[in-house]
Amino acid sequence: MSPRPRTSPVLPTVSPERHAALRGPLLNWYDHGKRDLPWRRTRDPYAIWLSEVMLQQTQVSTVIPYWERFLARFPTVGALASAPLDDVLSGWKGLGYYSRARNLHRAAQEVVSRFQGRLPATAAELLTLPGFGRYTAGAVASIAFGEEAPLVDGNVARVLSRLFEVEGLPGDRAREATLWALAGALVKGERPGDFNQALMEHGATVCRPESPLCLLCPVRAGCLAYAKGRVDELPPAKVRAAPKKLELALAVWPREGKLLFARRAEEGLFGGLWELPTTEVAEDTTDAVALGQLASALGTPDLKLVGALGNVRRQLTHRALTLRLLRVAGPVLPRQAKSFQELRWCTPQEAEALGMSTAMQRALESVIAQDVLAAATPTAPAQTRKRRPRASP
Ligand code: SF4
Repeated sequence: MSPRPRTSPVLPTVSPERHAALRGPLLNWYDHGKRDLPWRRTRDPYAIWLSEVMLQQTQVSTVIPYWERFLARFPTVGALASAPLDDVLSGWKGLGYYSRARNLHRAAQEVVSRFQGRLPATAAELLTLPGFGRYTAGAVASIAFGEEAPLVDGNVARVLSRLFEVEGLPGDRAREATLWALAGALVKGERPGDFNQALMEHGATVCRPESPLCLLCPVRAGCLAYAKGRVDELPPAKVRAAPKKLELALAVWPREGKLLFARRAEEGLFGGLWELPTTEVAEDTTDAVALGQLASALGTPDLKLVGALGNVRRQLTHRALTLRLLRVAGPVLPRQAKSFQELRWCTPQEAEALGMSTAMQRALESVIAQDVLAAATPTAPAQTRKRRPRASP
């Protein structure tokens, strides 16, 4: 039997009446009620791009001081492109999701090499740069350059799902295609950048996930979910997987007022960031076995375990992270190791300039608080971990 031909989903259209009934009131509401955010006061495409990258996965109130500091440090695409990656990662310190900073840096370099230092003005060209997905390309093209380019983020998806009664779970392909088609139809017209921002602002402040403020909504008259009493059903909540546990054993190797730091491989969690050298271990791995793994990662078979310095725990979006701090020492000082891009002996002050994750900074603070760098103070071997029984399921 020959395979059935694939049929494309029928995408929705927006009638001219509906288009006008939604666009006008939303723009009017935005003009009068929008939040005063610093990136809304600039026309600089680079500054707008930076805000869009930082706002992915980070709240507005957190982003504002980071955005201001980062722009002061790297005021132009050219300045960012010519800065060492370490400086860029250090400027990103505390924002998390460091792949955003690495992509930003790489994209800035491409903007310089391919576009003479000026961000391209269309979503299609922006999509050719590292780190630009459909959302970021649409946001920068519409807000900075006035292109009628749509965008769909979580806020816009919620607003459109309710206005147009779009069914399906977040992540569902047909639903995504429908939402992008609706956003593409609605963005056409005057001030596309403001309209996109109006949709996002509306989702963030009025059409909120919980308890939306329908009575204050400028487009309530055209909202299908409101008319049918389905506001609480749309969009259906995404079922979140429980965060996975991840445990890293971490080598705390003090020597003459310095600690050994390592730069992780470019790919994977915390890719390219600096750390006290780590290796992934199972929850019930003994400290002795963890030490062996660290010795292997550092290429120092004579590594000795001096003591355990406790654990640091951090909750990441998808992982429950445990950093197991092991104080180590060895006769041979490693200068490079296959598992890491680079090794460096640094004082805590020197380490401040390194790009490190917030979790690693907490670990470092814990190490410093335990005074392991006081060379004259011998550290009594702490109680090390013996094999623990597995937690019962
Ligand atoms: Fe959202 Fe309520 Fe407005 Fe509909 S009426 S768009 S559910 S705030």
